[in-house]
Amino acid sequence: MGKITKKTEDLCPDCFKVVSVPSRYKMVYILAKEKEGLTVQQITNLMLLKQPTITHHLNILRSVNAVFSQDRGRERIYTINRGAHCFEECNIPFD
Ligand SMILES: [Zn+2]
Repeated sequence: MGKITKKTEDLCPDCFKVVSVPSRYKMVYILAKEKEGLTVQQITNLMLLKQPTITHHLNILRSVNAVFSQDRGRERIYTINRGAHCFEECNIPFD
């Protein structure tokens, strides 16, 4: 996991939300590695957290546009939004 180049207190509130919880920030890294995106179940398997916790973090990441979600059949696929403000302007490293 890369080092945050900015001090966390310099980040805007949206970006602070992304990095302030280590497991939430770890999900950003996991999603950045998967071009095709991941389902909640796949993320849950990788993170060793309970699914409601994963869903909670994903909702927050989505609320700041750090991730996209799209429904594919019965599944919802989450992908990182590389052009997001958090990565483009506030320069949060994700790989
Ligand atoms: Zn920001």
